[in-house]
Amino acid sequence: MKLKYSLICQSVLGAVIFAAGVAQAQDQAAPSAPAAPAQGQGGGGRGQGAGAAAAAGGGAAARPAAPYQESPTAYPNVGPNGCVGCPATAAAARGAGAAGGGGGGGRGAAAAAAGAVQGAAGAPVAAQAAPRVVGPQGNNQNPLPYDLLLQGAHVIDARNNVDKVTDVGIKDGKIAAVGDNLNAKDAIKAMDLKGYVVTPGFIDLHMHVYASPGERGSYAGDDSIWPDGFTFRAGVTTIVDAGSSGWRNFEDFKEHIIDRSQTRVLAMLNIVGAGMRGGRYEDNLADMNGEATGWMAQRYPGVIVGVKSAHFTGPEWQPYIEAVKAGNMANIPVMIDYGSNRIERPMAELVSKYLRPGDIYTHTYSGLRQEQDTQTLKASAGLLGGRAHGVYFDAGTGGGSFRFRVAVPLIKNGFKPDSLSTDLHITSMNSSTKDMLNVMSKFMAAGLTLQEVVADATWHPAQEIKQTQLGNFSVGSVADVAVLSEHKGKFGYEDMDNMKMMGDTRLVCELTIRNGRVIWDLNGISMDPWNQLQPSSPPNMASHWTAYRPRTPLPEQLTPTQK
Ligand SMILES: [Zn+2]
Repeated sequence: MKLKYSLICQSVLGAVIFAAGVAQAQDQAAPSAPAAPAQGQGGGGRGQGAGAAAAAGGGAAARPAAPYQESPTAYPNVGPNGCVGCPATAAAARGAGAAGGGGGGGRGAAAAAAGAVQGAAGAPVAAQAAPRVVGPQGNNQNPLPYDLLLQGAHVIDARNNVDKVTDVGIKDGKIAAVGDNLNAKDAIKAMDLKGYVVTPGFIDLHMHVYASPGERGSYAGDDSIWPDGFTFRAGVTTIVDAGSSGWRNFEDFKEHIIDRSQTRVLAMLNIVGAGMRGGRYEDNLADMNGEATGWMAQRYPGVIVGVKSAHFTGPEWQPYIEAVKAGNMANIPVMIDYGSNRIERPMAELVSKYLRPGDIYTHTYSGLRQEQDTQTLKASAGLLGGRAHGVYFDAGTGGGSFRFRVAVPLIKNGFKPDSLSTDLHITSMNSSTKDMLNVMSKFMAAGLTLQEVVADATWHPAQEIKQTQLGNFSVGSVADVAVLSEHKGKFGYEDMDNMKMMGDTRLVCELTIRNGRVIWDLNGISMDPWNQLQPSSPPNMASHWTAYRPRTPLPEQLTPTQK
């Protein structure tokens, strides 16, 4: 396993360096779209700008309607040149909108409204995305080596083989130092974290967070959750939306969720252009277009980090062939939720023949698709073949994708996950999955060590999505950090069959740091006692290390000169 990771790490080094730069840029501004040649927009109403044109032209936009039409091709996004059934390119569409071109009047109010949001202002989408700042801006330079110093915690960093009590220094949103006996005087704020576990912020490879469209019964809608309420409190700083949007609606997802969340939200594009909107969309082979999907992924490197196929019930291999085609175009992995168990397309063939080394099979421990040998209860030959081929196996426990009677014997016989993830959505958030830390604690009950579950939530997923600038404490890495407490006692963990397993450990997230600033603090361990006279760090320097906003002082707290 170690060898496999390091080999892959080396083989993608070039891509990683490139992706690191892009991902860094992502935090500052949206990546700009590559220039696209102008193309006729006669039909109108299908591109973003054309939507704006329809809005400007009156009529369609004035009529409030459901955000999306009930049609697999209703989404306003534009497609690549030469793509069969795809509309014009984004630049062409915006141009058409600004010029008032496109006489078709749009394909409905929804398309027009969405177009208006992104195109009507006349400004390129990239220019609209202002740099996002967590907490107030610091006015004062910090002359010290560190803004924030985490002292004396058990630090686990799988990337750098750190697994010991030591210190972590943070400056300007980056990891500045990891080492013993760093000096508290060298930081604006030093925190004694003896007894706690400190790890890189978690990466949840599988969530559904396209909550904005307002569509009922859809993961591109009401079945998704808003990310920030479910991430920081579980130590998660990066998530991957696993296919809630496809190439047709990705830019709407980006505009409404990715660009507005404090969590770093990355995405796998659904191979279905319309995204994860329910069976009749997700089984629609006509809307599975590898070229269009790959084209959109190429427009947002470092943001679109994979391609997803999910929930397919048919006997065809086409969804997987198209997904891999898109993955090859954009040099990104595909993640497969293998849908219905069909004898026409055995899982063993998928993971050994159709998927590439580095692709990801999720829902590994459901037992629904030939993952477990029914005689020995160990990993099936198919699963072992996939691992030998270099495919990664992800947990994705979700609402109906994890059984102890599958996971426990598989893990006991050596088939451990490559990554842990939640598949969090409106159902799994309240049922057996709950959140990332519950999944990690559950896998500890099922036989993994603390070090293994941390690696499976940090460095391993970072490698799977080729974002190796994340999930580690290398000096210079973004300072996304989770501070955990390990509660000992009797804790129950559940699976999809409403069966439970008792464990002796529950991980709790005490503190989360995003971009070098405290953004979640369960028990106020970063804060001073309320009746302490002197603050432990100068209040005017607080914006260097915390996202919490300072409040107006009471009159008696002001000095005479301030009054
Ligand atoms: Zn899912």
